[in-house]
Amino acid sequence: MSEKYDVIVIGSGPAGYVAAIRAAQLGLKTACVEKWSDDKGKVVNGGTCLNVGCIPSKALLDSSHRYHDAHDGFENHGISTGELSIDVPAMIQRKEKIVAQMSGGITGLFKANKVASIFGYGKLLAGKKVEVTDKDGNVTVYDADNVVIATGSVPINIPVASVNPEENTIIVDSTGALEFQEVPKRLGIIGAGVIGLELGSVWARLGSEVVCLEAMDTFLAMMDQQIAKETKKIFTKQGLDIRLSSMVTGSEVKGNEVEVTFNDKEGNEQKETFDKLIVCVGRRPFTQGLFSDDAGVQLDERGFVKVDDNCATDVAGVWAVGDVVRGPMLAHKGSEEGVVVAERIAGQKAMMNYDTIPNVIYTHPEVASVGKTEEQLKAEGVEVNIGTFPFLAIGRAVAADSQDGMVKMIADAKTDRILGCHIVGPSASDLVQQIVIAMEFGSTAEDIGMTVFGHPTFSEAVKEAALSVHGHAIHMPNRKKRK
Ligand code: FAD
Ligand code: NAD
Repeated sequence: MSEKYDVIVIGSGPAGYVAAIRAAQLGLKTACVEKWSDDKGKVVNGGTCLNVGCIPSKALLDSSHRYHDAHDGFENHGISTGELSIDVPAMIQRKEKIVAQMSGGITGLFKANKVASIFGYGKLLAGKKVEVTDKDGNVTVYDADNVVIATGSVPINIPVASVNPEENTIIVDSTGALEFQEVPKRLGIIGAGVIGLELGSVWARLGSEVVCLEAMDTFLAMMDQQIAKETKKIFTKQGLDIRLSSMVTGSEVKGNEVEVTFNDKEGNEQKETFDKLIVCVGRRPFTQGLFSDDAGVQLDERGFVKVDDNCATDVAGVWAVGDVVRGPMLAHKGSEEGVVVAERIAGQKAMMNYDTIPNVIYTHPEVASVGKTEEQLKAEGVEVNIGTFPFLAIGRAVAADSQDGMVKMIADAKTDRILGCHIVGPSASDLVQQIVIAMEFGSTAEDIGMTVFGHPTFSEAVKEAALSVHGHAIHMPNRKKRK
């Protein structure tokens, strides 16, 4: 008879591994099934985030930022370096070492918490049975009281620029773009979203001429548009060529290059030739081969596993978390869902606040937001007061040569409660977290304005934006009104 578990998690990305660890911490007998393996056939935990997503992209963003700073930023400080060079294979190797270290860390955490790590392809059968097929085709069926689906997402492939990683290293997805062994002279990117901007920045900093072809006529359409416009100005100044309303109609690999055909803003057909083309037009939930016909779990019209507010599926005892369910495809959103589900399985009343999930683009400067945008609140008819503050009036930002960008704070006009905060600027990822906490505690803009912030810090821009909601900012250049 096969082994029985209290909880079996399918998928070991940030949603799945966190669910598994939390369940084990709560005394539940837990296993985590993962299909990813290395060339030696050893299970690789950590999912997209650790292996081909958050962590490797940030490793390359960091390396390329250092190179770019040394190339363009040091002279101003009186530092000269002589001839600079970049060893791309060494940079990629460093990234791989970091990935291996982090992924090994998850395996270590599994051991420490007594989570059984099972290698193989998981399939949910009726009656909360999980069938696992290993690399050699051996099948084992496990029983569980609870199953947590955490199978994540994969890149969307478009027929006009199809990615086939086996055959082609010229048209690539985000995974291929983390593997380049030299700096492409001309780099095309389809989709000026989060991945396009982060990976576009990596290779632009190292010397690529980068063209982003974006189908929409609005840049970062989901973001607060005042911040999006400011961001586009900064990126354009950095050399990213962002072409909106550009609809790609075809691509052809010719030798070592790819010719991309697209319709421009005016509807005229254009052609551009690139050394590499990254396709990053979004991701889709991954549920291939995951359910037997009688498993009973429903998908929604977009292919996501259907869940309620607490990540329960239509089948009692079967849950789903992370990219495979509705909501933003973010590692921290999935991890938090994993915790909530583990605690609910253990009989606790955990829940998650989806209104305060931070969103960050790790470019330089970073772009970060939490809560609603001005456009969303206007559409909902909510009356708001808005405060903005530029980093160029913040001493620490000027001292650090990081004065591009601004903080925008939006508060309810009646209650002064903070409804959203949107930032483009230095350390935006950390600054926004202050407002995530503030919103969790129901803070007003006045609360933030009355809080003492250390000087000199970038975070003073957050305080000044909060003061500016009521026209009280102290260091505001070009003050228009004072109350
Ligand atoms: P995944 O991480 O996709 O993990 C799913 C796991 O399930 C995989 O290991 C897969 O092999 C396994 N699996 C699937 N099906 C089966 C099966 N049937 N049996 C067994 N195993 C299975 N998010 C952020 O918050 N911050 C960032 O900075 C960030 N950067 C990113 C950069 C890039 C380039 C990319 C591509 C993504 C980035 N993301 C980022 C998004 C983030 O990676 C995802 O939101 C996150 O990984 C989702 O976690 P998950 O656990 O739901 O799924
Ligand atoms: P995205 O949704 O951020 O951006 C895709 C862009 O492609 C959009 O602007 C869209 O309008 C455009 N697009 C779609 N079809 C197109 C077409 N045919 N031609 C031209 N443009 C087209 O998706 P992504 O950049 O692929 O990233 C996928 C997901 O991964 C994101 O939604 C995000 O949740 C996650 N991610 C997060 C981070 C982070 O948190 N820093 C980093 C990378 C990825």
